[in-house]
Amino acid sequence: MSTRPLLRNVLAAKSESTSDVAPVSSNRGSGIRRAVLPEPLPPPSDALAAALTFLEGVASRRMCREELRSWIDRNLVQSGYMARPWRIQEPLFGAVPADKHCSSFLPEIPPTDETAAILVRTRARVVGHLRGLLQSPADDRFLSAAIFAGRVRRVVVGDTMQWVPRPRSHDILSDIVTSLFVSDILGRREFYAQNLCVCDTCGRVRFDPEPPQRNKCFFC
Ligand SMILES: [Zn+2]
Repeated sequence: MSTRPLLRNVLAAKSESTSDVAPVSSNRGSGIRRAVLPEPLPPPSDALAAALTFLEGVASRRMCREELRSWIDRNLVQSGYMARPWRIQEPLFGAVPADKHCSSFLPEIPPTDETAAILVRTRARVVGHLRGLLQSPADDRFLSAAIFAGRVRRVVVGDTMQWVPRPRSHDILSDIVTSLFVSDILGRREFYAQNLCVCDTCGRVRFDPEPPQRNKCFFC
């Protein structure tokens, strides 16, 4: 099942909705008025697109065991970021010190299915990390943790240096997904500072240059 249309909505809903109603220019009276349209957001990197697809897939409960396996193959193994893991693992919630920041993104009743339980714990931890970037001062310790652990690396691409994900196949799933975000964030901190929105209530992650509130989504 393709999740690209949903992802496009996450990134571009704002510019699409405004482009229908705002005129580029209008002639009235003696002068020419020009409406300034918001800059369209750049297309997501492959790493960001993969990470957002994961979060949306879990939130909408479309991601199951088979979908998770093919998401890993498509976005991590075939892209050369990591070897295919023989087992997916994620510690029980509460086992990681940072878990207290993420508990609001867990369902009230944990899923009984093992894969579903792993997926919701993973999403809660990843969203909790991103939420730290919106705090003042920002809590970005997960960035240095990923660098220190070697889950992201700087490599030469053409004539530039780029951060790429390099998770290990035995890493826990939340560290694997987080490494996709970290490689993207390290390459463009300013973009995240200006556009990242994380809903405090449902954990939805989106990018919007002019949100009413960065910690609320359209639905909460
Ligand atoms: Zn929300």
